[in-house]
Amino acid sequence: MKCYCCGKVFFERRTFKTLFKENLLFRCKSCEVRYPAYETLQVIPKSEGLIYLSSLFKEEINFDIMAYNQETSKWFLSTLNNMNKNDIILWIDELSEEMILHLDLLEFDIYLLTKSINYFS
Ligand SMILES: [Zn+2]
Repeated sequence: MKCYCCGKVFFERRTFKTLFKENLLFRCKSCEVRYPAYETLQVIPKSEGLIYLSSLFKEEINFDIMAYNQETSKWFLSTLNNMNKNDIILWIDELSEEMILHLDLLEFDIYLLTKSINYFS
């Protein structure tokens, strides 16, 4: 497999039990330790509902976001299990204050995932 952070080819250690099981990895062990995901959550009240603003990183990152597919899929699955039927899920790379003002006009709760929320911290 090829690491989406550093670009190096790496191999997963296999045993007889895991020989025929497919385990997709997107980062090598070194990059997992060096660049961990720090999921944070901020809840912003709006006129009708709440904005659940989640981020995967403390600061801006420069490598491929595909490296964090496992963390992203966990966030989506947990959000889908916890949200109500009419709530909205959004993925926005760069969030601005103007965008928050537009989101305020929408009804229902909004679950929003961004790369980083340094703008609001
Ligand atoms: Zn790597």
